[in-house]
Amino acid sequence: MGLAPPSLVEGPDVIPTIALNDNTQIPQLGFGTYLVDPAEAAKVVSDALEAGYRHIDTAQMYRNEAGVGDAIARSGISRDELYVTTKLSNENHERDAVRRSLDQSLADLQVDYVDLFLMHWPLPTLYDGDFPATWAAMAELRGDGRVRSIGVSNFQPAHLDRIITETGIVPVVNQIEAHPYFANDVARVASCRHGIAVEAWGPLGQGTVLDDAVIAGIADDLGRSSAQIILRWHIERGDIIFPKSTRPERMRQNLDLFDFALTVEQTAAIDALDRGDEGRVGSHPDTFAWLPA
Ligand code: NAD
Repeated sequence: MGLAPPSLVEGPDVIPTIALNDNTQIPQLGFGTYLVDPAEAAKVVSDALEAGYRHIDTAQMYRNEAGVGDAIARSGISRDELYVTTKLSNENHERDAVRRSLDQSLADLQVDYVDLFLMHWPLPTLYDGDFPATWAAMAELRGDGRVRSIGVSNFQPAHLDRIITETGIVPVVNQIEAHPYFANDVARVASCRHGIAVEAWGPLGQGTVLDDAVIAGIADDLGRSSAQIILRWHIERGDIIFPKSTRPERMRQNLDLFDFALTVEQTAAIDALDRGDEGRVGSHPDTFAWLPA
């Protein structure tokens, strides 16, 4: 017997929205574009929009914003029906670069504003460790309508505490690695305590969780794919997710999460797969210091 909140089981065409702490709303399910080849991005994102996605997650460092922009322009979908996120590149943390790079992102995306602008990484070992100054520069951008909401990504509890203490400005989301092998409850709980919504990047563990035997067993029992089981687990936890696939049939499958639910036992079995820090597939935010060439 499924025990998901009734509001999450509304039929395949209805994607729930999550209320953010600045009174905006974000679709809980979107489409990710990490490692989508810039040359193929227009086609891939067009396919995603065609499949029904209305929330697109990109980043300056993905180098595919222009392709995302072409897909948006060609789609004919009105701007207010789309939710577009981009992220500040690690090379753009200085105040002037924050402004300049947002202008470039808007030009590449062919939009007047982004719904959400994230600091991609805190980079505590670069820029004299002054990520609060970068955060303050991002906050200035909200005033002129080019950015609806601002948030952070890969922020550990101490990073959140520092920006909030030093600037008084609370991010709307923290986009962190999270999936069944790395539930990342440390960053999750700290985010929730501040009223910050959690976006789970790599919701499928970048593919690594798909072959798990426990997940496969639940998938068999429910007549769903392993990807759908994992994504449904995220939805029921309240995560905002944007799985990536370049294949239209998988894009559609990943949207089709709202006419079934996990039982308490199934949820507990997936929760038990958490390997703590060992389960990370990405870099640790305390030490990550990569700058694009
Ligand atoms: P993911 O967990 O979404 O996994 C993607 C992989 O799963 C791909 O190899 C894809 O082929 C496979 N896959 C997807 N759907 C499938 C299905 N139905 N059946 C079988 N295989 C399937 O990994 P991701 O793309 O890294 O994460 C999602 C998004 O999160 C990214 O695209 C990006 O937008 C964002 N992200 C953010 C950060 C950050 O630092 N903020 C880092 C990584 C990713």
